[in-house]
Amino acid sequence: MAQTTQCPSCGTTHAESTLTQALYVCPVCNTYLHMPARARIALLADPRSFKELDRGLVSVDPLHFTDRRPYLDRLAEAMATVLAELGAEAAGRGGRGGEGVAR
Ligand SMILES: [Zn+2]
Repeated sequence: MAQTTQCPSCGTTHAESTLTQALYVCPVCNTYLHMPARARIALLADPRSFKELDRGLVSVDPLHFTDRRPYLDRLAEAMATVLAELGAEAAGRGGRGGEGVAR
């Protein structure tokens, strides 16, 4: 089954292939939609040139910052979301026409 995304603005459901071709701009209402990391990398880097860097890199809280919620709680929540979305392709280097590209 093809993956689909619903535009939060107009509610239209689009196939990923449609959104990829439209560079993640809703073809109905022109709202800029979230572009997944894999699509962004495919846009920037030549095929098979992307090499992941710093897979184990994590943020820390050296100031023990807290406002309404502890920073570490916010960080853990954000990391769970990012990892679910990005998989392991958060940062790396690739090439585009022989030139280096980093994400
Ligand atoms: Zn839309």
